[in-house]
Amino acid sequence: MKITDVKVKKVRVPLAEPFHISLGVITHAVSAVVAIETDEGLTGYGEGAPGVLITGENLEGTIAQIHMLAEKLKDTDPTDLEAVYWIMDRASAHAPCGKTAIDIACHDLLGKKTGLPVYKLLGGYENTIDTDMTVGINSPEIMAKKAAAHVAAGFDTIKTKVGTGLEEDIARVKAIRQAVGPNVKIRLDANQGWTPKEAVGIIERLNEFDIELVEQPVPAWDIEGLAYVTNHSKVLIMADEACFNAKDAMNLARHRAVDLVNIKLMKCGGIREAQKINAICEAAGIQCMLGCMAEETNIGVTAAASLGAAARNITRADLDAVFSLKELPIGGGMTVENAKTIHLPRTGGFGFEDLIFD
Ligand code: MG
Repeated sequence: MKITDVKVKKVRVPLAEPFHISLGVITHAVSAVVAIETDEGLTGYGEGAPGVLITGENLEGTIAQIHMLAEKLKDTDPTDLEAVYWIMDRASAHAPCGKTAIDIACHDLLGKKTGLPVYKLLGGYENTIDTDMTVGINSPEIMAKKAAAHVAAGFDTIKTKVGTGLEEDIARVKAIRQAVGPNVKIRLDANQGWTPKEAVGIIERLNEFDIELVEQPVPAWDIEGLAYVTNHSKVLIMADEACFNAKDAMNLARHRAVDLVNIKLMKCGGIREAQKINAICEAAGIQCMLGCMAEETNIGVTAAASLGAAARNITRADLDAVFSLKELPIGGGMTVENAKTIHLPRTGGFGFEDLIFD
């Protein structure tokens, strides 16, 4: 099989309601959707959803990068995943988002060619994965009400953002715990908001409300600081912005800096690199979570869920971006049961319906 063309389409889907995080407000999912066409008549779909606050990439740059990579990949066999990846990595340093779009589409093609769903190609441990649900920043009353509604719908884990001020954080987490009762897990994301010493003190206070884990308490570059927090906290500490790729994972493992790692396809450059992160973490005794960008659609989330379900060391998922989309840009792919359980289709590839590109 050979790549004959790579088409790119800008997709902009409104969210049901604006999503507030400590860094700003998100109103739309915006991503570059790709279709890789081949000489065998099969088409693979993928997407790159840049999160400028996390990776520094934007949509225009991602689209330009995909066009550039497409030139280099012409006539390559898209099912030779390692070869595709090597071509992309030599053509462009960093810039994971465009590579992710192509990597997802190549996995879709491998699945279509072999007739196997991607979760089976990646290990096939399970074909489902449960996700948490995030409550955006708002008044404690509104956050508590939303958390209770999510739990009533079927979710058993609520994630929320902290790091905007100790008293506010305590009021929010307290209100959520009171609203959801003792049996629901609450996980927090500080998005680099604290110094190491602040983090240890604040996490201890927030843990009065029984916290499952805290994501990225300190700045991304501060590995020693992250290790300090991990060594001085009872609560599990997870790297997010501190772990983009397999080399970051190696560095975190070497310094015993974290208990957990949050893998996102848009940070690392695709499923292939994500598998390498997970392998390093598993060898180091670090469990992983599969996360997503708030801007992602059901294309990226189906790909992420396929890896999350397939790998035994990926024990958690934060793949809730699809729940806030007003409409889905593509048919097929993942389905959801009991609010929280993502099911992967058993057809070849990711099971997406064909999309018209103009
Ligand atoms: Mg995070």
